[in-house]
Amino acid sequence: MRISTAFDVSKNFDLVIIGGGCSGLSLAMELCRYFDKAIPFPRTLIIEPRSHYINDRSWCFWDLDDQIDTELVSKSWQVWEFSSESISHKHSSLEGWRYHHVPSSNFYDKAEKIISKNPHIKLQKNSRVVNESYSPDHIGLTLEIYDRYKHTESLEITTNLVVDTRIPPEVDFSVATLKQIFYGFEIKTKNNHKLKDNAMVMSNMRVDADGFLFDYILPLGHDSLLIELTRFAVTSIHPKTLRTNALELVNKVCGDSAYKIVREESGLIPMGIPRPEKIKDHRIIFAGLGAGAARPSTGYAFRRIQNWAKICAKEIISKGKAANNLPDKNTLKWMDSIFLRTIRKNPKIAPMLFMKLAQNVQADVLVRFLADKPNKSDLASIIFSLPIMPLMSSAFMEFFAQIQATIRNKKCL
Ligand SMILES: Cc1cc2nc3c(=O)[nH]c(=O)nc-3n(C[C@H](O)[C@H](O)[C@H](O)COP(=O)(O)OP(=O)(O)OC[C@H]3O[C@@H](n4cnc5c(N)ncnc54)[C@H](O)[C@@H]3O)c2cc1C
Repeated sequence: MRISTAFDVSKNFDLVIIGGGCSGLSLAMELCRYFDKAIPFPRTLIIEPRSHYINDRSWCFWDLDDQIDTELVSKSWQVWEFSSESISHKHSSLEGWRYHHVPSSNFYDKAEKIISKNPHIKLQKNSRVVNESYSPDHIGLTLEIYDRYKHTESLEITTNLVVDTRIPPEVDFSVATLKQIFYGFEIKTKNNHKLKDNAMVMSNMRVDADGFLFDYILPLGHDSLLIELTRFAVTSIHPKTLRTNALELVNKVCGDSAYKIVREESGLIPMGIPRPEKIKDHRIIFAGLGAGAARPSTGYAFRRIQNWAKICAKEIISKGKAANNLPDKNTLKWMDSIFLRTIRKNPKIAPMLFMKLAQNVQADVLVRFLADKPNKSDLASIIFSLPIMPLMSSAFMEFFAQIQATIRNKKCL
């Protein structure tokens, strides 16, 4: 099996992107924006184990209408809903924020189309990195490339720059303050469903013996729904353990109406993990979920990855260096951390906390907070909307954790 004649000549690349998933392909698409400009374009190889892409997940996020890629977004909602114990709060924005849905198949199709038009970038599917070596003048990677009969071939390549989107070996999701675990079904109903066209982003928030959970229901069309069961848990339970309950939820939503399952999706997203230590070798950077791409308090990562990809591509083109995930502002980090600690310690109050936010904070303020773009007064509104007492002890714990970390860092210097 050949990587391609053009790429075989030297097996030496300016940039290797390990992993053609959300981060890897986002970066490749951003790099392609510079293709027509009169600059030397980095010879780039993307290494991806998959043989082909399927619609394996849906990416949702809040954004202003003029900021979205209309080619990717298949559906947007004007109204989103939070509910618990039959009380519901509906939010809609005056500033033009909506909740958007990108089926991953739209994203993968677009990425493959763009990459195939650029002779300097190759997406090598059916391949994985099995070994890495670092010397002062280059990085060596051993690839295992296989065909559909599972015959494998080993290939040595060299590069000057690596963006690695795999989960780094030292990153342990089990140490995350909380884990967002979900299992969901996209279904087609025989008759039109009767749900309103609202995104039920945190519906029927409740607590059981295993902690905080809620339903996530998106009416994708008049006869199609995405229905997921989500937990914020302290322990790393396998998403598959939620399947039976998620299916019960589908049956509850559909009642007597017939439906067929179109696809299933599930995952575990770490909420609040320490970022991997910055590697001293500036020729390699980690990106994506394992490098802390998800917002700690929400688990949302898609939009953050797009923002990182823009900046990283610009750095690669202009300086020949890749950029790490963008850090959150300290206040945001602090608030997220207190919120997560509080829910971890006392999951029973989670529905009350989220409902207070939905009840007391204006839609635009809350959505700016959720979309990582709060201003100072938004942060104040968020803080004052919540009951002080349950958050106080977590705030103290966070304060002491920060002092301990500072002392530790000083001792290390
Ligand atoms: C089902 C699901 C739904 C989600 N929904 C949302 C959402 O609605 N909104 C949101 O903001 N976030 C969402 N997320 C979170 C996040 O946006 C996604 O997990 C996103 O795909 C993370 O991007 P990534 O590049 O870090 O990982 P991935 O997209 O998983 O990419 C990593 C890539 O590395 C490849 N790889 C692994 N090992 C090797 C190897 N040895 N060599 C080469 N390549 C390798 C993998 O095949 C994969 O393609 C969701 C996550 C899941 C799992």
